[in-house]
Amino acid sequence: MSNTVDNNALFKISYGLFCLTAADSVKNNGCIVNTVIQVTQNPLKIAVCVNKANYTHDLIMNSGVFNVSVLTESTPFSLFERFGFSSGRFTDKFDGFESWAVSENNLPYLTEYANAFYSAKVSQKVDCGTHTMFIAEVTEAKVLNDEKSVTYEYYFAHIKPKPEKPKTKGWVCKICGYVHEGADLPDDFVCPWCKHPASDFEPIE
Ligand code: FE
Repeated sequence: MSNTVDNNALFKISYGLFCLTAADSVKNNGCIVNTVIQVTQNPLKIAVCVNKANYTHDLIMNSGVFNVSVLTESTPFSLFERFGFSSGRFTDKFDGFESWAVSENNLPYLTEYANAFYSAKVSQKVDCGTHTMFIAEVTEAKVLNDEKSVTYEYYFAHIKPKPEKPKTKGWVCKICGYVHEGADLPDDFVCPWCKHPASDFEPIE
């Protein structure tokens, strides 16, 4: 890629996070997306970009309808795992999940961890290669509560668990290379080879 394109620049776009739901005659399904925008006010249209690999994508392709639930800052990581980390092709993402209701279009929307939902009917499909952009007319919209909408940035800072720090396997003397095995190095440790103190040791991870 050209060095005039810094991918990090794209991470500066602010996004919300949404649970996009759709269904067929057999089951309800949903996935997590960050690409919902309002397109026009009159008529009221929204757009969502969905990866073609997502089962939800196929459901929307076939049914032409979907719901969007706007996720809040109180959304637990488990909800992102449930809707974001598995495919509805192989699992029922609503199995054991009770925080949802059905809107006028008979599709599920979230009643907890969402502050609003929209029902929409697809009016245009734009093939974007890996993704399809669905442009859709809003047929129902409700505010559920006044909680703050979660942003992608907030999710990374406060919801997504941080990777665990690698465990210290041992300590190496920076002076002579002596290795002390074990996670702990006592403060009064003295290197048996060069007699330097614990402060001259660094952790091996
Ligand atoms: Fe040493």
